[in-house]
Amino acid sequence: MIIFKKVVALHQFITSLKQQNKTIGFVPTMGALHQGHLSLIDACKKACDVTVCSIFVNPTQFNDPKDFEKYPITLEQDMLLLTQHEMDILFLPSVNEIYPAGVHTLPHYNLGALENILEGKYRPGHFQGVCQVVDRLLNIVQPDKLFLGRKDYQQCMVINKLIELKQLPIALSIQPTLREEDGLAMSSRNMRLTAAGRKKAVVLYRTLLFIKENAFKKGIPVLIEEAKAKLLASGFEKIDYITVADANTLQEIKALGASANAVVLAAAFLDGVRLIDNLSLSA
Ligand code: AMP
Repeated sequence: MIIFKKVVALHQFITSLKQQNKTIGFVPTMGALHQGHLSLIDACKKACDVTVCSIFVNPTQFNDPKDFEKYPITLEQDMLLLTQHEMDILFLPSVNEIYPAGVHTLPHYNLGALENILEGKYRPGHFQGVCQVVDRLLNIVQPDKLFLGRKDYQQCMVINKLIELKQLPIALSIQPTLREEDGLAMSSRNMRLTAAGRKKAVVLYRTLLFIKENAFKKGIPVLIEEAKAKLLASGFEKIDYITVADANTLQEIKALGASANAVVLAAAFLDGVRLIDNLSLSA
């Protein structure tokens, strides 16, 4: 595995790979790697000649400074996992490398309705930060294919929009959510849960399953209220949202037609840790 910390050196190396007609696949991460990240890397390795993974905890996408400070960092373990996975290139930039002119004069992206609903409503500015870092990383890495996890459903839609806005020649590949044995979606944030919290955390997934199983039998608003009560009764402290939405626009749906292409999405706090998950409601 070759490790690059400097933008110029990586950019030059990638340019030489492209001159040799190698296809470049890219998996951006914030580190604290788990099997979910590794599944993206495996998919990338299968599809591309060269796989680039980045680890960068992007300060501009954290609306809550405490969340940024507490974000888990396990760099040594990450590098071990990446070496075991025969990663080709690891990009480990500093904040200065990514934002050489500072973080106060960064571009603004017109993300339309996507920006202020669900995650965007509860994390103002989050998706601007995501676009700032992904735009910069895509510029440096120049991938042919970009691999993202469906676990961050709205983020996938936002990055798809970014690719459209900038008319980038990049194919987006969205990979399924990897789950722990009990069903909890793998996440770097799970390691901040207490042992008791970890046991309760699976209720988020079970609650989404409950909605999926009943979505065509009961009214959506009633189901959502039942789901919220379940989460709070099991120890979740606060629910930002549980919403059934159109899978293409993320606009809220209150009643499902037989042909609806819908997704249920949720964000809730447990042990002070904000967990998110989603499930498709189509068969
Ligand atoms: P993060 O390090 O949390 O920014 O995630 C980096 C990438 O890994 C994003 O595209 C995430 O959607 C993806 N990812 C995170 N958790 C999972 C998971 N459980 N299954 C599949 N992909 C995931």
